[in-house]
Amino acid sequence: METRWLYVTSENFAKLRQAAKETCIIPMGCVEKHGLHLPLGTDILEASRASYLASQKETVCVFPDFTFGDYSLGAPIEPEGNVPAGVITLDMETEMLLLEKLCAQIARNGFKKIMVVNGHGGNVTWLQAFARKLYNKKRDYVFATYSLSSSESVYDVADVLREKGRGAFPYLTREDEDVVLDFCDKKKEIGHACMGETAMIFATAPEAVHLERLGIESGLSQHKADYLKEASVRIANDGWDINYPNAFHGHDPVGCNERIGKAAMEVVTDRLAHAVKVFKEDDNVLGWLSDLQKGW
Ligand SMILES: [Zn+2]
Repeated sequence: METRWLYVTSENFAKLRQAAKETCIIPMGCVEKHGLHLPLGTDILEASRASYLASQKETVCVFPDFTFGDYSLGAPIEPEGNVPAGVITLDMETEMLLLEKLCAQIARNGFKKIMVVNGHGGNVTWLQAFARKLYNKKRDYVFATYSLSSSESVYDVADVLREKGRGAFPYLTREDEDVVLDFCDKKKEIGHACMGETAMIFATAPEAVHLERLGIESGLSQHKADYLKEASVRIANDGWDINYPNAFHGHDPVGCNERIGKAAMEVVTDRLAHAVKVFKEDDNVLGWLSDLQKGW
């Protein structure tokens, strides 16, 4: 059935809400550089596509994209101290306010459970603060977050291949399986604009992947800020943007393609659909909310 908020008619809205057991998910990402080979919208494109596909496996209402996430504009992310072209950032206060207002609108439309499907690591910190802040506020809905973990998707595909054997994804060629297994057997790094995210964008918008731009900027750490983390001194983002000035963390995703992308998207959406099911079917969270409500 049609699960996307923007695509359903007002007349059919109640049917969707019922089928979704009054549960709604919000895809969230950001607009930031992803190396030279992936698009600015990588995180929201992945989150949006995965949310929709998961909603077809486990019915849930999919809210319009929350495109703009947190990005540290102050970080000297390029050698000259420039912010990469095309980056968009909102301050955290604005994002929290916007998310709270949107959640209130979703609840006004009859949803009791709201889950953010987050595709951007930079959102994790403020989402936790948001959830914490919300906990003490009067409301009539349960709020949760879910991390998409696109970066790990290629390792998840390798796990399936090892468990179920080659052929577990019938559309992968022998060479594709070699690419995935070799990458993971060698414990190559993943993190940002990496093999996993490249696969996910291949599955979402293959025309936006530019593998011919690999090899120009490195995805490996410059280790400049490691000494702080080692001493348990936490600066913003644990110095991630200092260590990875190219907005790329991972070994080059050589050999990645649309078929590997399809497998990555399959494991990511299976896991998300499972999370949706757990959240959707859970009565405890509603009970805990009504206990809280008695004290308000
Ligand atoms: Zn990303």
